[in-house]
Amino acid sequence: MTLRLFNTLSGQIEPLAPADGQSLRMYACGPTVYDFGHIGNFRTFLEVDVLRRFLLLTGTPVRHVMNITDVDDKIIRNAAAAGIPIGEYTAKFEAAFFEDLDSLKVQRPEVVPHATAHIDQMIELVQKLAAAGAAYKTEDGSWYFRLAAFPSYGKLSKKDLSGMEDGARVDVDEYEKDSARDFALWKAAKPGETAWDTAIGRGRPGWHLECSAMAAKYLGESFDLHAGGEDLMFPHHENEIAQSETANHKPFARHWMHVRFLLVEGRKMSKSEGNFFTLRDLLLKGYRASSIRLALISVPYRHQLNFTFDGLAEATSAIDRLRTFHDRLTKTSFAPGESPALQEAAKKAREEYFNALANDLNTAEARAPIFDLVRAGNTAIDQGQMLAADRDAILAVLSDFDAVFDVLKDDDAEPTRKALVWAEEAGRLDEVAPELRASQSLTDESIDALVAERTAAKKTRDFARADQIRNDLAAKGVVIEDSKDGVRWKRK
Ligand code: AMP
Ligand code: ZN
Repeated sequence: MTLRLFNTLSGQIEPLAPADGQSLRMYACGPTVYDFGHIGNFRTFLEVDVLRRFLLLTGTPVRHVMNITDVDDKIIRNAAAAGIPIGEYTAKFEAAFFEDLDSLKVQRPEVVPHATAHIDQMIELVQKLAAAGAAYKTEDGSWYFRLAAFPSYGKLSKKDLSGMEDGARVDVDEYEKDSARDFALWKAAKPGETAWDTAIGRGRPGWHLECSAMAAKYLGESFDLHAGGEDLMFPHHENEIAQSETANHKPFARHWMHVRFLLVEGRKMSKSEGNFFTLRDLLLKGYRASSIRLALISVPYRHQLNFTFDGLAEATSAIDRLRTFHDRLTKTSFAPGESPALQEAAKKAREEYFNALANDLNTAEARAPIFDLVRAGNTAIDQGQMLAADRDAILAVLSDFDAVFDVLKDDDAEPTRKALVWAEEAGRLDEVAPELRASQSLTDESIDALVAERTAAKKTRDFARADQIRNDLAAKGVVIEDSKDGVRWKRK
């Protein structure tokens, strides 16, 4: 099955297949590790994870490279303010970033190169550009890319650059969004700043250079796919293309994927609006990592996701439905045989699921048939119509679903626990939702004991005691569920 994916460069949905017929070589711009990741960042990393997992599920191995930007203006500024070397400053946020990716079950790329470990490759690239007449040095010792040397500049973002001033320069990493200027490849060292002594002078790399250098090193000068958030299209990705294609005389990435920015409760997420959330903020509010994962991927990557707390609650109940159904399937014993209707339902759900993802990773349309199947399966079990081979067929569909969505297994306690440990270390325990705090003070054993006591109370018709236990637990964020298959409890 070939994935058809929108290509920003061509403006069309096109098949995505490895040029070498073997593995898909892809580069996704990684984080700048100067702070904790927010849900906008993670939406982008999760959508790339959806792409990666779907390729793997459909039999295409991937070679996925994601860089870590561990030097830039903000990092240098913040490390200086904290009075520590940049490496010490970034190490903390890089560790936090990977902890967050694990919480969200984002798979690790094959290669995760650091900018600061690839200064040599970047210098070589600047030298190549200088030799081609596309890079020049200014009086202060900085190097710039000459936009006039790359006539097709703007082909990715389709920006009209006719008003562009020849020779106008920009030297900061934080750009004015609409100005196309000669951009910094290498910045001369300023007093007291982190710098490298190199053949092109003492200084540090501009932001764009690292991605061109590392993509070429790990994927080759030409490769299959490049991804990132929509903000990176211009100027970052245009600049990567300009550098790489000028230096190597080959098309850089053939396919470009850009993830649309999210809104929070209908508005742009921003600290000043008070609607800015890191993953940790949400975990401390008591939301589960799996709910956050599902909420962030349920809207296809090219659509604007409006992240809301209602949406998170919806994701939580969808996951509960799935997990309860999966439990029923695996814990009930079914008579041998198969029923044509359920076999057909499983086949149809599977087809619709794969077709939706193959169609530009339409995660919303991919979810729908799975939940239809859950409904049909629950009804069949209630009516005693599910047979062993039906269960197997449905479990196989759920497994394909989970290969991409990855929310079936209840691993939610660990990310929450880690967030609480972090909150304690960071002195932010006051941000922990009271319910979450209470539920964490109960051990699994003590909950088991209370649930058993409640079951015993019900047997002796002491309903007052049974209700009291249920209510006490609920107040501490523990929910008891009675079903035909027994009593289960879970932390909210
Ligand atoms: P940064 O660490 O700021 O370089 O961003 C890491 C990734 O997150 C990049 O691919 C960005 O495009 C992406 N990103 C940043 N903000 C948002 C947002 N609000 N919505 C979606 N993606 C974002
Ligand atoms: Zn990049």
